Amino acid sequence: MATLIAQGSLGRARSQSLSDRLAPVTIQERDVIERLRSLIRDVPDFPRPGIVFKDITLLLGDRTAFAAAVSALAQPYRDRDVEIVAGIESRGFILGGAVADRLGAGFALVRKEGRLPSTRISQSYTLEYGEAVVEMHADAIQPGQRVLIVDDLLATGGTAGAAAALVDRLGGDIVGFAFLIELSALGGSAALGGRPYTALLRTNGDGGIA
Ligand code: AMP
Repeated sequence: MATLIAQGSLGRARSQSLSDRLAPVTIQERDVIERLRSLIRDVPDFPRPGIVFKDITLLLGDRTAFAAAVSALAQPYRDRDVEIVAGIESRGFILGGAVADRLGAGFALVRKEGRLPSTRISQSYTLEYGEAVVEMHADAIQPGQRVLIVDDLLATGGTAGAAAALVDRLGGDIVGFAFLIELSALGGSAALGGRPYTALLRTNGDGGIA
């Protein structure tokens, strides 16, 4: 099982999902895609009316699917000398911690405002309505460290973009971003600064996972 990063023209990164590769992939890969897709539950109008929440708790609770998802998230970065994974609260902690273990990397926390105990740096970003803030400990990443940013889902890209800004400010070298799901229609990859990213599953136009 593998996911690949495809670099587009002009150095702009674009992701390739497992499902993009259906034609050349093996039956085993197709099974993995199906298994992951079947374990992601759409919850309409959560946490607010109009939002279809992608609930991954069934996937996390399935030992085979969880292991397969973690392997697939880590795979493209195995030879990229990732020294530390920056996981975004809260599902990025679960996936990112497991990915860090697979890659032999450390783990750094990107948390919501006010939750980190020691000296921290903050980054605000725009939400659909209003603003949000994410923070990291000022000593979470050393200058020059190679960093992979992990979260469960890429929507507008605001959260991942803010996490990247924190890593940049600490002097980290961002190797890429790994997501389980990309809500493609929202164009969130534009917030990733043209850096490589991977998504295991993408939503199609009607919000279903392709
Ligand atoms: P965004 O900053 O818009 O890219 O949103 C990404 C962050 O919000 C991630 O940490 C996701 O966990 C969460 N998120 C946004 N939209 C959804 C959704 N439809 N289902 C589940 N999580 C979501």
